[in-house]
Amino acid sequence: MATVVEPQVTTYQQYIDGEWSDAASGETYDIINPSNEEVFARASAGREADADRAVAAARRSFDKGEWRNKTQAQRTEIMYAIARHLAEVSGDWAAIESQQAGAILRKTSVVDVPLGIEHFRHHAEMALQIPWYEPLPWVDTPHVSWNFVSREPIGVCVGIVPWNFPLMMAVWKIAPALAMGNSIVLKPSPFTPLTALKLAQAIDETGLLPKGVLNVITGPGAHAGARMVEHPDVDKVAFTGSTRTGREIMRMAAETVKKVTLELGGKSANIVCQDADLDIAVDGTLFGTFFHQGQVCESGTRLFVHDDIYDEFMDRLVSKARSLVVGDAMDFSTQVGPVINRVQYDSILGAIERAKADGAKLVLGGGRAEGAGDKGYYIAPTIFTDVDNSSRAAQEEIFGPVLVVQRWKDDLDVIARANSTIYGLAGGIWSRNTRRAIEMAKALRTGTVWINDWHLLNSLAPFGGYKQSGNGRELGLYGLLEYTEVKHIHVDQGVPREERFFYDVLLG
Ligand code: NAD
Ligand code: MN
Repeated sequence: MATVVEPQVTTYQQYIDGEWSDAASGETYDIINPSNEEVFARASAGREADADRAVAAARRSFDKGEWRNKTQAQRTEIMYAIARHLAEVSGDWAAIESQQAGAILRKTSVVDVPLGIEHFRHHAEMALQIPWYEPLPWVDTPHVSWNFVSREPIGVCVGIVPWNFPLMMAVWKIAPALAMGNSIVLKPSPFTPLTALKLAQAIDETGLLPKGVLNVITGPGAHAGARMVEHPDVDKVAFTGSTRTGREIMRMAAETVKKVTLELGGKSANIVCQDADLDIAVDGTLFGTFFHQGQVCESGTRLFVHDDIYDEFMDRLVSKARSLVVGDAMDFSTQVGPVINRVQYDSILGAIERAKADGAKLVLGGGRAEGAGDKGYYIAPTIFTDVDNSSRAAQEEIFGPVLVVQRWKDDLDVIARANSTIYGLAGGIWSRNTRRAIEMAKALRTGTVWINDWHLLNSLAPFGGYKQSGNGRELGLYGLLEYTEVKHIHVDQGVPREERFFYDVLLG
């Protein structure tokens, strides 16, 4: 009889009130590596009871005030010290991120981990610019009162994040919440909780954050996540994920009228003009489309190529896309890894079949990646041309390595088509004529526009959506302000009773 050697499977606990603990139910669930479908870790299956405990801890810590009552300079210094520690202990995070998310090691080691830590530090730095007190010169009548605006932390924040950039998304919720003096409960995607837990562990090791200010619970969204969105002791929900779940979260948050910021789906238009630098535009389009298997909310998955350069551009694009190497995320030669899980794999293949049925012309890919073996969720980079802008392939967020292409001739027409979607997250224009490109950029109804580039988000620049791509902004001062409340304080200047005319409305 053959001996089966069980690979080392680590079980991760949740982080609540500064302690590591199992789910209240004691249950765990498997974390699967999408490159090979093997179970390589387990996490706690947190549910309502765990959410309640985490919210209570966050509430206690906020009400106690140890974190929110520090000065901004103190909070920033502490976050800098934490960031230095993250840099020291994050040696294995890129590998863990690749294993859980199917994100290629080339990306996790160059983008997710170093930029994640940098963004953590950057939020602390930007926080120094927040105007916590803003004097108002006068309100209505001069010499009656002194007036100022006091900014304050919101309270208990909940961050709910997806699986595509697990560490980065955790940082984008935790860092602004902490920088602004809030307490937070983070719920990573059930598929990818490990680097968020590593982050919490590293922060815990510093001993610099009061207990309960940061909590991480894991498990299925519909239980712990929904509970927190409805919880009366939660003041704000910051969500990143699908538009469908975003709508549901807004509905659930309505009962307690919570502050809700949403960063949702997209179907971003990538417009290539006839005067574009084609070398850059071809590579930039590949990067904008197939980076992380297209599982990025701001991916440029709707390509519009000008008629004059269409044939040359498409020849070059398709031939380069054909040579992309699909394989195991941990292999440094891989350019396109697996998609996250079976459900997404089936959903993307379904979208590809619908595009074929709707009459789009398949020019590359169109199914499982050849030579990928039979394990792992590998989809070939796929390109459809002759796509009708009103078809499902052009309107639905596929969230996979699938590009749909249209031709254009007239600026106004291409802008109208680009804007004809429920989404408004991002867009891009390739042109050597900067003035024209800026005009087009202003006409796009999206939160970000790249001119001659893609995907480069800047921690100083606001990121978020128009239309059904979301509410509010992340990153930059705009993002930090979303984690504050605004209070007007009116200080009477000692005005005598006889000059208080408004009192006479009632009493006179
Ligand atoms: P999702 O929106 O369902 O999940 C995102 C997060 O919300 C996860 O942490 C999940 O556990 C949680 N959640 C789910 N239901 C919830 C509920 N009722 N209450 C509270 N929290 C809940 O996304 P998904 O299922 O992981 O992916 C599905 C689709 O989402 C993808 O095909 C893609 O279109 C989109 N997506 C978008 C982004 C983005 O960055 N905008 C990222 C990942 C996925
Ligand atoms: Mn996103």
